[in-house]
Amino acid sequence: MHRFWNLFGYLKGAGKSGAGHHEPSVNDSRLANLLENTADLVSFYDGDLRLTQFAARLGDIRGSAMVAGASVWEIYPALADGESREALDRVLRDGVPCTTALHLVPNRKPLRALLFRTSDGLGIIESADMHAKPVEEAEHVKLLHQATHDVLTGLQNRRRFSERLDEILSDANGPRERSALLQIDLDDFKSVNDTLGHGTGDTLLQLAANRIRGVLQDGDSAYRYAGDEFAVIQYGKGQPGDAEWLAEALVDAFKAPFIINDIPLFVGASVGIAFGPQHGTESEELMKAADIALYAAKRDGRGCFRTFNRSMMLLLEQRENLRRSLRMALERDELYLEYQPLIRPPATIVGFEALLRWNHPEIGLIPPNVFIPMAETDGLMDEIGRWVLEQACRQAMTWPSPLTIAVNLSPAQFLGGSLTDTVAQIIDSVGIRADRIELEITETVLLEQTVDNLDTLNTLNVLGIRISLDDFGTHYSSLGYLKNFPFDTLKIDQYFIKDLVTDQKSQTIVRSILSLAHGLGISVTAEGVETEGQARWLIDEGCDCLQGNFLGAAMSVSALRDYTVRPLQEVHDLEGQGRHK
Ligand code: C2E
Ligand code: MG
Ligand code: MG
Repeated sequence: MHRFWNLFGYLKGAGKSGAGHHEPSVNDSRLANLLENTADLVSFYDGDLRLTQFAARLGDIRGSAMVAGASVWEIYPALADGESREALDRVLRDGVPCTTALHLVPNRKPLRALLFRTSDGLGIIESADMHAKPVEEAEHVKLLHQATHDVLTGLQNRRRFSERLDEILSDANGPRERSALLQIDLDDFKSVNDTLGHGTGDTLLQLAANRIRGVLQDGDSAYRYAGDEFAVIQYGKGQPGDAEWLAEALVDAFKAPFIINDIPLFVGASVGIAFGPQHGTESEELMKAADIALYAAKRDGRGCFRTFNRSMMLLLEQRENLRRSLRMALERDELYLEYQPLIRPPATIVGFEALLRWNHPEIGLIPPNVFIPMAETDGLMDEIGRWVLEQACRQAMTWPSPLTIAVNLSPAQFLGGSLTDTVAQIIDSVGIRADRIELEITETVLLEQTVDNLDTLNTLNVLGIRISLDDFGTHYSSLGYLKNFPFDTLKIDQYFIKDLVTDQKSQTIVRSILSLAHGLGISVTAEGVETEGQARWLIDEGCDCLQGNFLGAAMSVSALRDYTVRPLQEVHDLEGQGRHK
């Protein structure tokens, strides 16, 4: 108690300095110094009982509640009534210090605090010495820590993040122009979490938090505010230099693999930077700006940082416009299908893959890789997918009967649970044989809602529809999928085909896929065959089916009619060359 009373004696005059007061006054810089360093939880209030100054440690513990101007009741709600209220009134009226019990956390043992009148208001000390039971203090601090920190990574949490952002943006006296928000997103976290399990995902997040901590400088504070989304707030720094330096350091820190259970995982980080107040005077606005910059970093290839600028905003607006017009595209007949041949060597057209196109009236042709993800996030993929399937099946009905039609399915089409009904209805209304339809899915379908989606695939299989696994080798190819579901076809992604002739590694991978698939009785199609050399290599290795610009690019319905003869001739030539080898 001795130390506390000394401190109290010193502080009684604090809160307002200057001569003319009958109470002893305390030099402002010494007070500031003391408040910065004391372990005691001291705070001062003016005549209206609004917070004027407080110990730094109190700020650490209470977070945003400790904002200048907050009323004493916001900070200590327990002072509003009961015995504590009486004590407060008494102290203010009589000027006699008094200790009182404060319930900070409901249903927990109260803390004791000393209330004392100052020259112009009130002072409160929750001194470590004052807590009758140190365990309570520890518990109290622990609870407050839990409320403001993320349990998994120990970084400050979302609540603290928004509080801090509000704080710095509203700090009229502070160096507002020198605050920076860096949003950090882990590239490919979702794949790790989905394929290697949440345990690995959690470990990865902890290691990621450590790497972020490792590059922080004085005055930077780091937060985890959602799943794999982290942020750093910089305040009172030399901008833009410091933020850019930190962003660079963050990106570099994520370049080395994370080793979890002896598995090296390459998970990069993308960073978006926005500066307050020029990119936003409200926290929401600043977060949006940083988010747009982050989006730009991801679009530019990930593993890099971008600083917000207005032209990004324009790009985003264009994207939003695009999004809006996509809703109308079906009605306005702007979507159509092209068909790309699938060739069984030496020269048999097995069928065609339907590839969706959007001809935007002002922009022109927009690639499916751009608008399909939009349709997926906007909940349009069900409707568009249904249209594609029906359109493609009707087209296939105009071809000779053995020719098949391959149609891509988006994972979004599996979500509603009505995919099998939709497919059955279309087969019925078009009158096509189910075994002429091949539905292409990617591994993402198997990653999400695995059991339901497997059920859906099995039902489609029972209908007689063939199922192929598209883009094989580019995701976290898990051989478990091949065991769990009887795929008819496996499509090797063009990534492995493009340098097939010269790259030994690609050759080894393609050979292994061929032998694996054939061992399981699965047919293999090579995608993106662009050259004769690739085609010949694949034919020699026993690839069942080829697809690519060398054999025929995706083409419109009208071009399809002229197609039949010419490429067949080319492939015949190819076969001849193959024989003479
Ligand atoms: P995918 O299903 O793997 O389709 C093959 C992609 O490779 C097509 O791109 C095709 O035009 C392209 N391609 C074919 N041969 C070659 C070649 O020799 N060289 C090169 N560089 N590329 C070649 P496209 O049409 O841009 O489609 C991209 C992706 O968009 C498709 O990849 C598919 O995932 C998706 N997609 C297209 N149509 C649909 C659809 O109707 N529904 C869904 N859900 N996705 C679709
Ligand atoms: Mg495909
Ligand atoms: Mg593909």
